[in-house]
Amino acid sequence: MSYQSPVADILYSLKHVAGFDEAIQSGLFGDLDVETAASVIAEAGRFATEVIAPLDRVGDEVGARCENGAVFTPPGFREAYRQWASAGWAGVTASTEYGGMGLPHSVNFACGEIWNGASMGFALCPLLTEGAIGALNAYGGEALRSTYLSRMVSGEWTGTMNLTEPQAGSDLNAVKTRAERAADGTYRVFGQKIFITYGEHDMADNIVHLVLARLPDAPPGTRGLSLFLVPKFLVEADGSLGARNDVRCASIEHKMGIHASPTCVMIYGDAGGAKGWLVGEENRGLAAMFVMMNSARLGVGMQGVAIGERALQRALAYARERRQGRSAKGGAGMSPIIEHPDVQRMLMTMKALVQAARGISHLTAVAIDRSFHAPSAEERAAAAERAALLTPVAKAFSSDIGDEVASLGVQVHGGMGYIEETGAAQHMRDSRIAAIYEGANGVQAIDLVQRKLPLSGGAVAAREIAGMRAIASEVAARGEAGFGATAGILLEAIDALEQATVYMREALGADPASALSGASAYLRLFGLALGGACLAKAGLAAQDQAARGDETQRGRVGLARFFAEKLAPAAPGLARSIQSGAAALAPYETILAETA
Ligand SMILES: Cc1cc2nc3c(=O)[nH]c(=O)nc-3n(C[C@H](O)[C@H](O)[C@H](O)COP(=O)(O)OP(=O)(O)OC[C@H]3O[C@@H](n4cnc5c(N)ncnc54)[C@H](O)[C@@H]3O)c2cc1C
Repeated sequence: MSYQSPVADILYSLKHVAGFDEAIQSGLFGDLDVETAASVIAEAGRFATEVIAPLDRVGDEVGARCENGAVFTPPGFREAYRQWASAGWAGVTASTEYGGMGLPHSVNFACGEIWNGASMGFALCPLLTEGAIGALNAYGGEALRSTYLSRMVSGEWTGTMNLTEPQAGSDLNAVKTRAERAADGTYRVFGQKIFITYGEHDMADNIVHLVLARLPDAPPGTRGLSLFLVPKFLVEADGSLGARNDVRCASIEHKMGIHASPTCVMIYGDAGGAKGWLVGEENRGLAAMFVMMNSARLGVGMQGVAIGERALQRALAYARERRQGRSAKGGAGMSPIIEHPDVQRMLMTMKALVQAARGISHLTAVAIDRSFHAPSAEERAAAAERAALLTPVAKAFSSDIGDEVASLGVQVHGGMGYIEETGAAQHMRDSRIAAIYEGANGVQAIDLVQRKLPLSGGAVAAREIAGMRAIASEVAARGEAGFGATAGILLEAIDALEQATVYMREALGADPASALSGASAYLRLFGLALGGACLAKAGLAAQDQAARGDETQRGRVGLARFFAEKLAPAAPGLARSIQSGAAALAPYETILAETA
């Protein structure tokens, strides 16, 4: 079953849920117009459907392989990457100064969904490179920027992010990789990094590693981490590639999914020290790395949306074809399984969750754009806080959705879903990592509760909740039958979120264990309420269109209703679970001791 980039749905969500067109029309992005932004996304869709998507299967079946430190991507990847890069796709948001298109982040995240939907194994390389470009642009000095940025923006060179070590995963305090100052102002880096995505490969001429390491006199913990740029090949003064640097790939991992994406063990400095250049200031490396991580977090959220969408397309096609049993509709012979209410439930759940996660991700993307481009400092600061609040939700809710939807996709296929040849299983295997990397989802939930809820004394979260309430009230005010019980149930979900927010803020001070134990449920509740509001907003826009005589989007009203009536009722239950605190966890040692 071939993948069709969901360009129309993406454009609808950007416009009607996230207010992207309005932002363009208000002049936020200079002379960019709506048509140009849309045509870039449509072209990405065409490219992904025609060039990348056909490689997804071979990427999974053949995978990347490592021989004597050299990594080979699956057949067709190198050519597709070169075509992708020469079409300019590595530089969607990058500044025109470095050869980029200078387009909004929202356009790039929309393209990110499209690349990932076509092949997540392929799209990981650009995802990490974009983050590296962002960190270098924000923190790299003039010399680093002029040497590296234009080649990364053109896609000739790719980037990596090197945080993880065997003993340092979620907790970067434990990073041991060390750096020494050299007499010429550069540094020498020594250590081992693991799980480095596209740490070595054959698609680009050079690889620019951004590596967190510790100087000899650095304070302990994350305050003692510095960020270094370590190229695979040293770059000569004239920009040509020189000697190989002292960094190598020792091996690649054998993984559950994303087989095309090499996940590398990288060894720095076992032949005297890998030559590195400081990015930003000594001991302030985490700040620079955060630029990379924040962009990558939303990027990972988009992966959840992307794989969910692809799983939905595949399951829907199968459910229309496969015949089993006789549905209430009757007819001769067996019915297509799509006629069974339980299969309808699965497909509708898949669609509703994907569109809700897409809406949340687009809201986050537009907030990021506003944080850079809004006219006043006040508006930029407010948008940055909104983006900060929404980023963990976009990352964790969407990647959880990706998993759930991919799993439902397997279920829709029945036994054939478990057989690799249908492709449904690949989506489930591929999507599983998104909830783990870029900050495991449990850690995202803690970030939401501990750091994001207190922003501006709670005003940022309160504004978000008020926005959801306004949408639900508008649905109530219109009173259209197609929305069914949407308004009332959505308001209940928003009330539940509000109560849980008050509880969390109090528990954070008085009973942190209770706050932490409920963090994941809280993030889910946030996602359900906000996702329901996103779908309702899309439904309201569809209703407006219908009033103007265009009935083509009517299904969006029904989808909002489905989400509200079938999925959002979980919200009060989640609030109840959150408010029960940590008491039920307290005897975990005794209870778990009974397990061998
Ligand atoms: C395919 C793949 C690609 C990757 N790509 C990269 C890359 O390019 N660059 C890079 O640097 N890293 C990369 N990683 C590493 C990835 O970011 C880490 O695996 C991730 O951050 C989790 O760290 P960990 O695996 O050590 O798990 P751990 O930190 O050991 O966590 C295990 C579990 O404990 C939970 N946990 C841990 N600490 C806490 C806490 N304080 N409170 C509550 N729960 C907690 C986690 O949520 C998780 O469920 C990649 C990993 C994989 C598998």
